[in-house]
Amino acid sequence: MNVMDIFKTMEYGPAPEAAAPALEWIKEQQPFGLFINNQWVKPASGQYLDSINPSTGKPLAQIAAANSADVDIAVAAARTAFESWGQTPGHVRARYLYAIARHIQKHSRLLAVLETLDNGKSIRETRDLDIPLVARHFYYHAGWAQLMASELPGYEPVGVVGQIIPWNFPLLMMAWKIAPALAMGNTVVLKPARYTSLTALKFAEIVQEVALPAGVVNILTGEASQVGEALVRHPGVNKIAFTGSTDVGRSIRRATAGSGKKLSLELGGKSPFIVFDDADLDSVVEGVVDAIWFNQGQVCCAGSRLLVQEDIAGRLINKLRARMEKLRIGDPLDKAVDMGAIVSPGQLQEIQRLVSQGVEEGAEIWQPSWACPTEGYFFPPTLFTNVSPAATIAQVEIFGPVLVSMTFRTPAEAVALANNTRYGLAASVWSENINLALDVAPKLKAGTVWINCTNMFDASSGFGGYRESGFGREGGKEGLYEYVRPAWEKVGLTAPAPASSSNGSSPSGDGHANAAQFNATDTTPDDIIDSSNGFTPTLPAIDRTPKMFIKGKQVRPDSGYSQDVYDPEHRLIGQVGEGNRKDIRNAVEAAHAASGWAAGTTHNRAQILYYMAENLAVREEEFARRIVQQTGRSSADAANEVETTISRLFSYAAWADKYEGVVHRPPLRGVVLAMHEPIGVIGMACPDEYPLLGFISLVAPAIAMGNTVVVIPSQQSPLSATDCYQVFETSDLPAGVVNIVTGERDTLSQVLADHDDVDAMWYFGPAEGSKRVELASAGNMKRTRVNYGHSRNWLDNVQGEGEEFLRESTQVKNIWVPYGE
Ligand code: NDP
Repeated sequence: MNVMDIFKTMEYGPAPEAAAPALEWIKEQQPFGLFINNQWVKPASGQYLDSINPSTGKPLAQIAAANSADVDIAVAAARTAFESWGQTPGHVRARYLYAIARHIQKHSRLLAVLETLDNGKSIRETRDLDIPLVARHFYYHAGWAQLMASELPGYEPVGVVGQIIPWNFPLLMMAWKIAPALAMGNTVVLKPARYTSLTALKFAEIVQEVALPAGVVNILTGEASQVGEALVRHPGVNKIAFTGSTDVGRSIRRATAGSGKKLSLELGGKSPFIVFDDADLDSVVEGVVDAIWFNQGQVCCAGSRLLVQEDIAGRLINKLRARMEKLRIGDPLDKAVDMGAIVSPGQLQEIQRLVSQGVEEGAEIWQPSWACPTEGYFFPPTLFTNVSPAATIAQVEIFGPVLVSMTFRTPAEAVALANNTRYGLAASVWSENINLALDVAPKLKAGTVWINCTNMFDASSGFGGYRESGFGREGGKEGLYEYVRPAWEKVGLTAPAPASSSNGSSPSGDGHANAAQFNATDTTPDDIIDSSNGFTPTLPAIDRTPKMFIKGKQVRPDSGYSQDVYDPEHRLIGQVGEGNRKDIRNAVEAAHAASGWAAGTTHNRAQILYYMAENLAVREEEFARRIVQQTGRSSADAANEVETTISRLFSYAAWADKYEGVVHRPPLRGVVLAMHEPIGVIGMACPDEYPLLGFISLVAPAIAMGNTVVVIPSQQSPLSATDCYQVFETSDLPAGVVNIVTGERDTLSQVLADHDDVDAMWYFGPAEGSKRVELASAGNMKRTRVNYGHSRNWLDNVQGEGEEFLRESTQVKNIWVPYGE
């Protein structure tokens, strides 16, 4: 063939990247050992597993099969290393991370080829995206190590972190996990995916090259049932960071419930790719190629649902088919190949199964005319049209090169369709109208929104999900908080919380009202208060028994029962309604109906919090008396609690319009807007200590950030919260923003934690209750915040208020806005 012929056909010639250096490296090293304490050790089992090259189906290397005995050794190594690494100055840690970044760049081609051989993805992607981003993560986090002392004052590393990563971006996921962990002073035990361990093992060599202290990074290859599960359950591990499927994420949530292990989960997705009729369709087509055929669609944030405005659907689908016809699939080491192989035969079969199901359910399939290679595990780019939004292929994560398309007419319909999924990882919006795009972006339930672009990643911009796509962020400053704890916790989290219901329920045991008992009490409520407390006590009459507070109204409990409230001497001081499942359901419904609260201005939210403080201040004495009555504490103490509560309301009024997010400048022409968004409906069970302050310390930050709440007040001392009804009513708080259901904390918490329409659950009570909440929340992967039975000092502004509460009340959405013609 001469140059003339080439110009005539414009056919691609072969452009293979040499595999020899990588194959040579594998040959020298294998069988690979486990990497513990900077040494290669044989697995306790003596067993090895084959790692397969997906583009040929042939064995590539032998990796060690670790088991729980190896996990014990690796965790012990990491624990010992933590003693000194956790104390190492930030600058020293920064130097190591910087050195790792440099060494990754020095070995970049070997790493890229290894990744392609092991995973089957194209060399163009590993060379131009995976490996550069890996280096960028280590550089970026070297910076955070350097700045930790000044930028995260009052925080300490978590300890030993167990990290479990998937096969779709093996080295990149490793970098996303190891870089922030080390930067913040933690040590790690990492389990790569069984199919793709080789680049992590090459990384272990880099750890040796830079002479990272022994035990700071340990890498255990092997199977999930042997290594992953043992790591998750290991008592010596302080945190688990996981990326993978939602089902496994859910099982990890359950396995760690009540253990006190910190947890971050980056799970699946079914991300929408929304095209409005004014979009630049040629750019859209290239965007779709990146969204769903990048890495063969094995991407958690793949734009797998194409939502097109109806009037341009036909035109776009035609253009897309023409482009699909030109995609090149084949040897992933060929630099002119667009798509490589699927990672494993099992994954290939799963894609085939779901595609067949799509056809059976009536969707129309289209694939290019060319055939895939027969050797190795290949699947062609696939487009489904005529798909119903409820079809399996429109709801289930296929994790393959399969695009399903649907149409919409209006922006509102596009948003509804986009959010019609249990996931919330990412979304992509295409329009030349920036007003429209920026209006739609905040309405999408997704952790990342790309405008006129897709699958953009950078270390500076956090990545992570809403809803069942998991919780926690990787990257950005927000990602650092996954790897630290407030320093005060070490001291503060030692005392167990007061016993849950020591005097919170009826001594008759049935928890129901016992009017006779109340009337039989000789002591009048006024007598209860020691006159030395300095107040002239006046107690509301029994007929003012507070009801529930739902949708801005005081409503009777569905059960028709009341619960007695006692003072510390076990004298009856009042009654509250006994809430049940139905009351919680009504309260959740009301909280959802009040979602307009989030859309209102932050100025308005601040104003209302100030009003609440004002109205509380007017009744300061009365609230203090109530505290004395319920807790037996001194009047000075009680007055201090009320004063602190007022100050706390002021703090969150101040924060309401100041906790604003940031603008990132990743290496692209454009900006990323990192916005703090409310989580949605938060259920909360309040602590028994500080009945007023504990209650407001939870409610105020949540509503300041735009959430609506369903609150179970202290079971022991609920009257301070129920006294707030009038404060809320006179402060212009919209109906449904705060809903209060009194009753048994653990029964009601269970209903809230089980509820699929509750987005987060905060629980301050005994350790067993914390565990139950974490277990139940795995159902819809709601975010949890529990105290494991430990109390905190709510009077202390470090423990009881501040950024921690604001962070827990928000999730970061990163909106990528490229610019330039
Ligand atoms: P998994 O979630 O099963 O695996 C991810 C990682 O977790 C691997 O290292 C795996 O080990 C490990 N693991 C699996 N089970 C456990 C467990 N019980 N305890 C601890 N660790 C565990 O994903 P798969 O690889 O099986 O892929 C299945 C599906 O998951 C895909 O089809 C896709 O839909 C989704 N997925 C989503 C990803 C994402 O980024 N959101 C990434 C990968 C997959 P091992 O490799 O040894 O099994």
